[in-house]
Amino acid sequence: MVSRILILLAGSCIFLWGQAKRSILIITDAEGVAGICRQEQVEPTNPELRQLLTAEVNAAVDGFFEGGATEVIVWDGHDGSRTLSAATIHPRARLMIGAAGVTATFERKYDGLAFLGQHSRANVRRGIMAHSYSSLGIQNMLMNGKPVGEIETRAALAGWFGTPVIFLSGDTAAVEEIRSIVPGVEAADVKEGLGRYSCISLSAAAARDLIRERARAAMSRIGRIKPYRIEGPVTFQIEHTTRNSLPIDAGLAPGSKVIDDRTIRYEGKDFLEAWTRARAF
Ligand SMILES: [Zn+2]
Repeated sequence: MVSRILILLAGSCIFLWGQAKRSILIITDAEGVAGICRQEQVEPTNPELRQLLTAEVNAAVDGFFEGGATEVIVWDGHDGSRTLSAATIHPRARLMIGAAGVTATFERKYDGLAFLGQHSRANVRRGIMAHSYSSLGIQNMLMNGKPVGEIETRAALAGWFGTPVIFLSGDTAAVEEIRSIVPGVEAADVKEGLGRYSCISLSAAAARDLIRERARAAMSRIGRIKPYRIEGPVTFQIEHTTRNSLPIDAGLAPGSKVIDDRTIRYEGKDFLEAWTRARAF
């Protein structure tokens, strides 16, 4: 009798596990898409960018669903959220359009974060169109003294909310960047940078196949990859470009300090406080 109950319990646990919610957030960008290597190609309305990016996104969505995802949300993360369209996005995905706020909606508790079309942080040799948030506005960004860009700050933001990075596609420099902070991440290296505007890229077809395969594999990493979490007090030091020197009221906000005419530092008791202060400006 007891063993029959145990079998029933085990059966229902397996059933529940089989039905478990597996929600993935994909953050898209442009500079790390296969075949994108020139400045004019990253204009959000560029038809070639739209075609290449959309197909890579849809290949990743296919892979995540094949690997067991139950929900995939795609945030159009490039330059004002004007590149992707609900008309052409994967039918089973949902599209997030517009600003995602300071938290990038991570409080919704995704089971995994995926970067797609990602470039490396600013000042990386052979990083194709490498920059940290704004190539025109930001020269360098330091988190606790370490140069960082979108990959590491968003990985830390996701980690703050308990979400691990499970996948990245992009150029070789972006793949190296995520691997340096998230061992075991699944990555699709779609092009090798020779310089800022020169590269050797996979074909679109080969990139899609690789992305689909790695996205599928990434689903099995959930539960095995730890969220990337920064503990303790955090500083963000932002060095702006010459065309973006600090305004007269810089440094008035709590936790901020002007370092020089182009550089400001934000401090917080923890990652989220420092990030909120830095992103408010
Ligand atoms: Zn970017």
